[in-house]
Amino acid sequence: MLTLSIPIYEKLPNSLDLRLAIQWLTGKADWIGLRLYQEITHQRGARNGHPDENQVSFDRGVMVEVFHQGHFGYCGTAHLTKAGLELACHQAKQMAEAGAKYKVADFDLSAVRPRSVGHYRSPVFKNLDCETLGDFSETLRLASLKLKVSDQIVNAIANARLVETSIHYVSSDGSDTLQEFLLLGHNYAATAQQGSESQTRSDHGGVASCSQIGLETWDRAEILNRCARIGKEALELLQAPNCPSEKMDLILAPDQMLLQIHESIGHPLELDRILGDERNFAGWSFVKAEDFGQLQYGSKLMNATFDPSVPGEYASYAFDDCGNPAQREYLIKDGLLVRGLGSLESQFRSHLPGVANFRASSWNRAPIDRMANINLEPGSSNLKDMIAQTEKGILMEANMSWSIDDYRNKFQFGCEYARLIENGKLTSVVKNPNYRGVTVPFWNSLKAVGNAQEVEIYGTPWCGKGEPSQVIRVGHSSPHCLFSQVEVFGGVQ
Ligand SMILES: [Zn+2]
Repeated sequence: MLTLSIPIYEKLPNSLDLRLAIQWLTGKADWIGLRLYQEITHQRGARNGHPDENQVSFDRGVMVEVFHQGHFGYCGTAHLTKAGLELACHQAKQMAEAGAKYKVADFDLSAVRPRSVGHYRSPVFKNLDCETLGDFSETLRLASLKLKVSDQIVNAIANARLVETSIHYVSSDGSDTLQEFLLLGHNYAATAQQGSESQTRSDHGGVASCSQIGLETWDRAEILNRCARIGKEALELLQAPNCPSEKMDLILAPDQMLLQIHESIGHPLELDRILGDERNFAGWSFVKAEDFGQLQYGSKLMNATFDPSVPGEYASYAFDDCGNPAQREYLIKDGLLVRGLGSLESQFRSHLPGVANFRASSWNRAPIDRMANINLEPGSSNLKDMIAQTEKGILMEANMSWSIDDYRNKFQFGCEYARLIENGKLTSVVKNPNYRGVTVPFWNSLKAVGNAQEVEIYGTPWCGKGEPSQVIRVGHSSPHCLFSQVEVFGGVQ
């Protein structure tokens, strides 16, 4: 039986004993860290009832990190031999020497590289060997057929991405952490066309249906039901009027809250951004160091956490890439900004409180400050009550487009699907819904937050940052949220 399972250690050639490797290098610098990163990615898809994509890719290498002359140097290598690692160690030392003349901080090594030992594994109950490759691909083919509810559906796609990742980290002073992840993401999208007009509806905005879980949620009947609804909603959008342009109350569904949290809480609170490290690439931040403990970022209903401990959320983990144990922390408490997204190095430089978020996208990148799971904590309302209390408003679902300035301040975001709310009731569907705002006033207009029973958990593999570029996985959870008097507008007709 050909299954989806490709156990990582058995199939990758020339496995490396990292505990032996650190012994080869110990003494060649004041401190050495080795991070072995192994990843298998399965990408499978179907389009309009036909197989479209069926590939597996492998990636493996070691990042050698040294502390030398009071400075860090890095060198990644895919040559996993003693000679290969010694050469990488030598090059990392040369880099540290060159950089030491211009260093921005005199790091205390023990403050930024804690000694850690531990093991983490994704909470998987149904492994990849529970499903044959044939059955898995057939579900995707049937899903793409199910999306085609009419001849007006001109494109129907179903795809899935399964990732098995292992990160083993050891250091010359005794750190030894092993983390094994299984990540599942799948998406279904239908594009409907009539004349020159086309509308696309997808499953929670394309990349949002991602979790760190096994095949326990992979249910063919449930997926096919979802696809029938997605196809029907694409047709509905084709016939719908354009979204009106005026100020009104706005309810955002959790699959759009993902983007709102990501762009207007996550990125502006990254401490390396606030320190200016990112300004010639991804940008700066409107948040200043003195704002922590002072800035009323949102209304009293706003509570945002960094939480890598949520079982099954896409970016849960036990240690970041310098061995710092990861734990839940409030970033914003009762609307007040209290903590930044900064690793031990950024905390040392800025003297601000941070989190365990020093993460690299692979073996050939050095860690930087990243989001992990950034979640909006539940409140006490619910969607039904939010709709009932809204005289004139709109409910928007699923991210379609985003634009935000490089200080993460002014933004405008578009969604796939919306329904108007009139006198406390949901009424007509409208197409091309968008809204715009400015980060702090927008979050201060938050006037209701759904309860814990209505929290939905999403994620995306596509958060880009850094120079050279790094794309990393993040998770975001939220209930529905109600914002008052937001500038809403329709798309170009
Ligand atoms: Zn991002």
